[in-house]
Amino acid sequence: MDKTFKPTVEWMAQKYQEMNEQLFNGVLGDCNFNIFTTGRGSQGGTLGWFKIGARGIRVDRYSRRMYKRIGWDTEYIDKHNFVNLCWPTIELNGNYSGTEHGFIATLVHEMCHYYTYMNGYCPKQGHGTEFKQIGSIVSSRSNGLFTIQRLATAEEMNELELNDEMKAKRANRLANKKASVTAVIVFTQEGKVKLTITSNQSLVNLITKTEEGEKNEKVVSTNDANIIDYLFNKGYRINMRTWRYWSLEDKPWINEFKNMLLETSGETLGVRRPQPQPQVQSQQKEPRRIFSIKTSTGSFEYDGSVYNSLFKALRERFPKMSDDTIKKIMNNPNNYKMEESRKTAKSIIREVIDELMNNEFKGADNDSVEITPDMNLGKFSPLEVE
Ligand SMILES: [Zn+2]
Repeated sequence: MDKTFKPTVEWMAQKYQEMNEQLFNGVLGDCNFNIFTTGRGSQGGTLGWFKIGARGIRVDRYSRRMYKRIGWDTEYIDKHNFVNLCWPTIELNGNYSGTEHGFIATLVHEMCHYYTYMNGYCPKQGHGTEFKQIGSIVSSRSNGLFTIQRLATAEEMNELELNDEMKAKRANRLANKKASVTAVIVFTQEGKVKLTITSNQSLVNLITKTEEGEKNEKVVSTNDANIIDYLFNKGYRINMRTWRYWSLEDKPWINEFKNMLLETSGETLGVRRPQPQPQVQSQQKEPRRIFSIKTSTGSFEYDGSVYNSLFKALRERFPKMSDDTIKKIMNNPNNYKMEESRKTAKSIIREVIDELMNNEFKGADNDSVEITPDMNLGKFSPLEVE
C-alpha cells in the first residue's frame, strides 16, 4: 500500500466538488479548506475538523436554531445564508500521509458534518441522529467505499500514517503524562469502584480526605508504573484537573485489576474498617436532617451532615451554578428536612424551585450557546460541549 500521499488545499477543493456531486447530489454549498500541522489535535489526535469559521454565531438551546445578531436584528441561519454568515470550514491534519482514499474518507466524513449544519439547525450531538442518517445515505451511495462512522475504522487508520516527528512527540508526551499522574481508586461500601487519574496532588488529598476520612470508603492511590500503564492501555488517559471519576465496577477486567493493586500495594481491598457505631445508635431517636430540594428533573436529596461533600454533589449536579448560589442554597435552612417529615417538603420544594428559577435560569445567556471557530464540530456539537 502506497502511503505517501499528502493532501493540499487545491486537492481538497477538487475532491469536495467531486464527492458533493457523487454522494450528496450536489446540495452542499461552498466551503473553506485548510491543512493544519500545529495546534490542538495536530499531534495525531485528529484527522480532520469541520468548523464554523465566522464569529458571533449562536444557537438556541431549545429550538437548536442557529442565528446571528446584526445590530438589533436577529438573522436566522438557513440554507441560503449559511455559507455567507457561517463560513463553513474543513481542515485536514497535514502531519499525516497515507493513501488518497484514506484522505477522501476523512473529507467525506467532515462533509457529513457540514450537511448536518447547513440548514441552520445545530445537531444535539456531533455524531447523533442527523449525522448517522446522512452517514448511512452516503455509505450506501458509495457502494460501501466509505463507511461513515464516528471514529475512523481500523482499516481506515491503516491507510494513514503520522509522521515520525509527531509520533516521537506523541510518545514523549504520553511518557511524561504517565510519569506525572497518580491513580486514585475508591472502593465504596456499596461495591462501587471509582477511578480518578490526576497529576494534581491536592485533588488526591481531597479525595482521600473526603472518601476515606468523612465517608469511610476505602481509597488506594498509586503511581506504580505498571498500574498506570495498565490503565492507560485500557484507555483511561485523561489527566483530571477536577474531581471526576470513571466507574470500574462493571468492567470485565476489574478482578484482574484488583489483583494487580494487591500485588503492588500489599493492602487488602474490600475489607471494611468497622463503622463508628455509637453515633448512629444515639441519633436514632432523632430523625436525621437531610438536604432536599426539587429540581426540574426530580428531587435532589443528600445527607446534609458533611458540608464539603454536599457542596461537591451540588457542584456536580448543577455545573452552571455559581459557588455563591450553591452556598446560599446550602445555608438556607428551608432546604433541609427531617428524614421522616415528608409533609413540609412540598412548600420547601416550591421555594427552592422559585429560587433556582430566579437565580439561574433567567440569566441572559442560559438559553443560547455561542459557536466559536475553535470548536471542532466534527467531534462534538456545541450543545454537547456544554
Ligand atoms: Zn466526526
